[in-house]
Amino acid sequence: MMSQVKIEENVALVRNRIEKAARAVGRSPDEITLVAATKTNSSHLVAEAIKAGISVCGENRVQELVEKNTQGAYIGASLHFIGHLQKNKVKQLVGVCDLIQSVDSLELLEAIDSRAKALGRRQDVLIEINIGGEASKSGIDKSELTKILEKAENLSSVFIRGLMAIPPISGSESENRACFARMRQLFIDNSAKKYDNVSMDFLSMGMSGDFEDAIAEGSNMVRVGSAIFGVRVYPPKAD
Ligand SMILES: *Cc1c(COP(=O)(O)O)cnc(C)c1O
Repeated sequence: MMSQVKIEENVALVRNRIEKAARAVGRSPDEITLVAATKTNSSHLVAEAIKAGISVCGENRVQELVEKNTQGAYIGASLHFIGHLQKNKVKQLVGVCDLIQSVDSLELLEAIDSRAKALGRRQDVLIEINIGGEASKSGIDKSELTKILEKAENLSSVFIRGLMAIPPISGSESENRACFARMRQLFIDNSAKKYDNVSMDFLSMGMSGDFEDAIAEGSNMVRVGSAIFGVRVYPPKAD
């Protein structure tokens, strides 16, 4: 089946937007990683995106990731997990994903560490921050970050590579921008500290509707779905 959405064109448009946003603040677009948020899109479409130059895919649901991975959807790209992760599904991701972006508790970090240890590997992760302070949202409160980074010094099978955030959907453009700015400050403050098993390399923020603002506030990893694949059609919830 031919896709109606012109993925190749869309990828070029997104790259263009990234370049403009980076240049506008004196940054090089090369320092910004584009992660294609592939949720709800078939293996066929994911493969098409990779053919169009996408080098990192981000998936939200474990079951969907495992299924598409079995079908070879991500061949030629790195694979990130960007959705909410339950501890009992850690086994299915560790050693499979290059980066788990959405670690939102110490317990989850410990579970990933122990699984990676059992496999004799080291798992790269990001810590997800609940930057809007929403009660219903995933992510740790930023006041808890120091405690997690200190604890990570004893978790030698995880490597914390930075921070991730999703601002509140309901927020205005300026509230959104303020969230990104707070993330930037948190990232800078913690980059200056030195912890074992921690290296603040990635600040993952910005989606289809707001990645220009995120880049202006220092994001170096944007997660873009609908601007690449078109409007999502959600299947019935399975997991
Ligand atoms: C779906 C998703 C995105 C991409 O959202 P778009 O608005 O479609 O670009 C980014 N990050 C996460 C965590 C997502 O779940």
